[in-house]
This record gives sequence, structure tokens and C-alpha cells, in this order.
Amino acid sequence: MSVTIRHPTERTCLRCGREEVWQEDEGTWRAKATGRIYCVHEWNVTGTFSPIKV
Ligand SMILES: [Zn+2]
Repeated sequence: MSVTIRHPTERTCLRCGREEVWQEDEGTWRAKATGRIYCVHEWNVTGTFSPIKV
């Protein structure tokens, strides 16, 4: 059995439209388009994305 760890490379806030791109070498998210500063971001990958693919 092989398990591949995955993670999304892009995510978009459902509330303000902020877009972020995953920086593999930095291990952090980098904003591509900023949304509202005080938005409690609700990412389109949260909850539905499964990090582990069997
Ligand atoms: Zn947001």
C-alpha cells in the first residue's frame, strides 16, 4: 500500500476572494490577491480536501 501526502497548491477565500499560492520552498502561503484585512478567511479547500490519497 502506498500513501501519498498531498496538499493544495492554491486556495481561495469563499468570503472575500483572497487568493493564496503555496510556496513549496518556504513552506508557507503567499497571497496572490488580497481580500479584506479583517476577513475570517474561509478557504475553499478547508473541510473537503483530503491530504492523504491512498
Ligand atoms: Zn477572506
